[in-house]
Amino acid sequence: MKSTQVIIVGAGPTGLSMAAQLMRYQIDFIIIEKNQKTTHLSKAIVVQARTLEIFEELGIAVQAVTEGQVTTGMNMFYKGNRKARVNLSGLGEGLSQFPYALSLEQSKTEKILADHLTANGKQILWGSEFIRTEQTNHGVTVYYKDKAGQEQTIEASYLVGCDGASSPVRHQMGLTFEGDTIPKLFYVADVKIKSAVINQNEMYMFMIQKGFILFFPMEGIGHYRIVGILPDAKDIHEEFHFTDIKETIRKEVAVPIDFEKEFWFSTYKVHSRKANSFENNRCFIAGDAAHIHTPAGGQGMNTGIQDAYNLAWKMAGVLKGELNTIVLKTYDSERGENARNLLRSTDRMFDMMSGVNPVWNFFRLHIFSRIMGYVIKSALAKKMVFPLISQTGIRYSANDLTVTSCIGKVRSGVRMPYFVFSDRTQIFDYLSEPAFKILFFGENTNNESRELNSGKIKIKKYAFKEIPSSLFRNESDFYVLLRPDNHISYIGKEINKCGEVLLKYMI
Ligand SMILES: Cc1cc2nc3c(=O)[nH]c(=O)nc-3n(C[C@H](O)[C@H](O)[C@H](O)COP(=O)(O)OP(=O)(O)OC[C@H]3O[C@@H](n4cnc5c(N)ncnc54)[C@H](O)[C@@H]3O)c2cc1C
Repeated sequence: MKSTQVIIVGAGPTGLSMAAQLMRYQIDFIIIEKNQKTTHLSKAIVVQARTLEIFEELGIAVQAVTEGQVTTGMNMFYKGNRKARVNLSGLGEGLSQFPYALSLEQSKTEKILADHLTANGKQILWGSEFIRTEQTNHGVTVYYKDKAGQEQTIEASYLVGCDGASSPVRHQMGLTFEGDTIPKLFYVADVKIKSAVINQNEMYMFMIQKGFILFFPMEGIGHYRIVGILPDAKDIHEEFHFTDIKETIRKEVAVPIDFEKEFWFSTYKVHSRKANSFENNRCFIAGDAAHIHTPAGGQGMNTGIQDAYNLAWKMAGVLKGELNTIVLKTYDSERGENARNLLRSTDRMFDMMSGVNPVWNFFRLHIFSRIMGYVIKSALAKKMVFPLISQTGIRYSANDLTVTSCIGKVRSGVRMPYFVFSDRTQIFDYLSEPAFKILFFGENTNNESRELNSGKIKIKKYAFKEIPSSLFRNESDFYVLLRPDNHISYIGKEINKCGEVLLKYMI
């Protein structure tokens, strides 16, 4: 019988991220995966800015950016005519160190994460299939079949099911997976093309009467992901190949295009579902096991990575004896609310783009493409669109971890806003350590943070004289209490408030 602190089931992007995060906190874990290695499929090809910020803390962002490709623009076409072009290269300028969406195949993202684990001496138990689990108030026992087909047992304090949409862990936990499956069949094709029109690192959205055809740029010249809906007449149980749809695509986009190579073609159903809870005592679920979305906005994988980021510091704090177990309850409340909001926004986006809803369809075909170019160029839209899509704008509502508070434009619950100091360092250069942090902005003589009692909770203290007025207006002498995931627990002038938050979670 093996024993460890945390058992992770599934080595997809969520499970690998959970492992990489626990490693930052020196928590022992065992990760089991029924496949023999990471996926070879391209699946999720958008890595959002917040994910890159998290990768930066792990030390793997440079590799991701080097292997990927920045998406620099978005084009809208209707009946073969370009209706709008939006420059996306500077969309998140001033809002993140990574002011763009990166195109990187999921196979590469998973490999980067898996290599990071092995380079740090951590093993993944490949070919090991979770069978069942039992839990008591003191721990969990997991039974799995190893590579040789032998049943094995592991004991641990906690279990995290990162085992995808059909999650056996979720079923064992007795949780439901509520929502809808859209009654249409979608296709995805990774291809190499030659075209006088589709030839930049940009998205090309072709709006057609019944939906859309999207060309999303992938690494290399002429390499695109095509996403669309199979025409209504097709039987959804039939097996399809790219050759069945190729000519329809060519006709519907109505711009010259030669297909040179097909790398991957698959059809899939789109689901929009969420588990009724992300935890049951000592068992947790994360990623697709907890919520699945329409592909609108490329959010699925990124959300799983952030679930792991949110859960890991809480679990680590409890296992190290620094935090009270009640902190684990905030995983479901924070990430559950995020999943609900995401489902709402991706469903809405999807309704609009898929042509399923007749009202949205009219708006999409006749109004959207005309106004989009103007809207997205406005400073307000830039401030709204980038934080939403990039996941840098996620805000956790007030709970015991977040005291409603604000200084200038910055409110509690948000991730620490990005900004650059006059010496060209940026705020996140100081924030990569996996610990609570207290930042003081103002005159040193007024800094009372050394008087803060944080009990057993490890806390890093920083003081800054330079205060960006674009965020904090003319305020000075205030504190920002950051959780280990760099979301703001409290922002204000009362050092006692920081103590109060910490007190709630002290052992
Ligand atoms: C065509 C397509 C395009 C997509 N595009 C995007 C995009 O652009 N951006 C985005 O963010 N998301 C996208 N997604 C979604 C993204 O792929 C998923 O959200 C992501 O893979 C979820 O990661 P995960 O680790 O939670 O689950 P998974 O990737 O499903 O990983 C779960 C792992 O658990 C393992 N497992 C399951 N059962 C067991 C068991 N009994 N024992 C041991 N191991 C087990 C599985 O083998 C698997 O490796 C796309 C998905 C598809 C299919």
